[in-house]
Formats: sequence, structure tokens, C-alpha cells
Amino acid sequence: MKTVLITGGAGFLGSHLCDRFIGEGYHVMAMDNLVTGSMKNIEHLMDNENFEFINADVSKYVDVPGTVDYILHFASPASPIDYLRIPIQTLKVGSLGTHNLLGLAKSKNARILVASTSEVYGDPLVHPQTEEYWGNVNPVGPRGVYDEAKRFQEAITMAYHNYHKLETRIIRIFNTYGSRMRLDDGRALPAFFSQALKGEDITVFGDGTQTRSFCYVDDLVEGIYLLLMSDYHLPVNIGNPDEITINEFAEEIIKLTGTKSKIIYNELPVNDPMQRRPDISLAKKLLNWEPKVSRAEGLALTLQHFQSLPEFKKT
Ligand code: UDP
Repeated sequence: MKTVLITGGAGFLGSHLCDRFIGEGYHVMAMDNLVTGSMKNIEHLMDNENFEFINADVSKYVDVPGTVDYILHFASPASPIDYLRIPIQTLKVGSLGTHNLLGLAKSKNARILVASTSEVYGDPLVHPQTEEYWGNVNPVGPRGVYDEAKRFQEAITMAYHNYHKLETRIIRIFNTYGSRMRLDDGRALPAFFSQALKGEDITVFGDGTQTRSFCYVDDLVEGIYLLLMSDYHLPVNIGNPDEITINEFAEEIIKLTGTKSKIIYNELPVNDPMQRRPDISLAKKLLNWEPKVSRAEGLALTLQHFQSLPEFKKT
């Protein structure tokens, strides 16, 4: 039986990865310090003999007993309000945390995949974003703590690959959604669903003409799995190229939930990217991967999840 260590294993993406690797017959070690993750996301796995949870901060020294075949580094705050709230932890987990895990991968002779992000492109001047684009990031802006940590993460991962010949994979993840997103993580999708289900105003930032491209979590997990098993070490975009404005997105959620909520407009956060869409030609060619779940299907599944939460359960 192969062993995989998943950092951020109690988070949104990490917990979905735990499910996937348990399903594939792996021994899964989920590591998390629960600063943004939640035990709720993995409670269904706690009795599984192939699953173990380790409460640890990967920014400090990390070690695990026994053999490890794969490491997936998914520990990090990932929403703008989280990394504004804990900027130094955000910088540390992307930099020191990545360094520690690369060291662990080297000592275990494991293959490591690190979770990078479309934020490495910043507020992009090239559209859609291809992997060759170097980005337009403000290092001292509010998003700098996340963006620069992730850029450093890519650089040190490449250095371990080139210098130590470590087997490394880098995924650049674009906006992803699905069950287990925290309702209060401040991102557009959970904010809009939560507001719609409570009948509160939907808070669109700026004039809502900025765009994003939203990928359903199952599609992303499939892309991660295929990339890990591939033999390609340079960064690969994984995301859904179906681009929409935030206004349209808010309207879709209003329609889907049938809420009477109205859209209100708040100030656009500093350095909020105006447009974002992945060019996924490389993933298609390399991994034969493309997203399968349309936004209509994905949003309907996500609505079911939010409606099942105690906050919204109809009595
Ligand atoms: N956004 C919004 N209302 C909210 C939260 C976010 O209009 O309550 C906007 C945000 O300004 C951004 C887009 O929605 O333009 C996506 O934001 P999110 O935080 O989900 O992700 P990111 O900016 O990291 O792509």
C-alpha cells in the first residue's frame, strides 16, 4: 500500500484530496494545524484504518514515521480575507513550509506536488493566462503575502528539482468551488450563497465587471491526480476556462437559490485582478484533462451542500 502525505488535509481542497486517495487505496496522512481547516471536513474519515490525522504546523520542522511515496502540499490560507488576517503565517507556510516539505520529500525519496495558484499571474496583462506568462504582481500590496509566497514556492520547488533531482510537480490552481468551502472565508461563492440563503444583500465588489473562471472541485481533484502521476515538472494550469463577470455570477446564484436578495455594490479591494481565465491547452495535451462539470451542474451540487448545513437546514 502506498502512502501519501497531504498538508492542509483538513481544508477545502485537502479534504477532497484525502477522499480521493482513500478511494484509490492509499494510506493517507492528513496534516493540518487547523488555522483555516476544520476537523468537520475529515470527520467521516477518522474511523478509516487507512487514514490518520496529524495536527502540525508545516512552517516548523516536520517529520513523519515510515515511508512516504507522495507529498501534496496544500496547506495555506487561500482567501484574501484569511491572508490579510494572518499575513505572516501565509508567507511562512508558502515559503518555510514548502522548504520543510521539500526536505521531507528528499529524505523519504518521495514525489512532491505543490499547490500554486493563478495568483502568481497577479492582475494579468496577458489573457487568458498561459504558463509562460510571468505575471503582474504587486509584492507590497495586500495580496503580496500570498502571491509572493507562492512564487517563492515555485522557485524553491524548481531548485530542488534541478539541484537535488527531486521529483516535483507544480499545479497552478484557478478559482475552485464546491462543498466544504467555509461560509465565512470571504470568497465570492460562499459569500453569495450565504447571503442568498439568508435573504441578505449580495455584496458585489467594484462594479462587478471583473471576471473569474470557476472550476468544480471534482474536476480539479482529477487534474491534480493526473498531474501527480505524470512525468512533467514545470507548472501546469488547472482550472475551468468558462469565464464570467462577477455580476453574472451573482445573478446566477440569485436565480438558482430563488432568493429575493438584491445586489449591492461595495468598494473593490486593492489589487483585485480585473480578469482571470486559464489557458488549459497544456493540461489538455499533457494529461488529456479538461473540466467535465458545467457551472450549472456544479453550482446546483454546491447549493445542495450549503442547504444541508445546520445554519440553513429547513426545519
Ligand atoms: N467578490 C465580491 N463579493 C464578495 C467577495 C468577492 O464581489 O463578497 C469579488 C472579488 O472582489 C473578486 C471576485 O469576487 O473580484 C472573486 O473573489 P474571490 O475572493 O472569490 O477570489 P479571488 O479574488 O482570489 O479570485
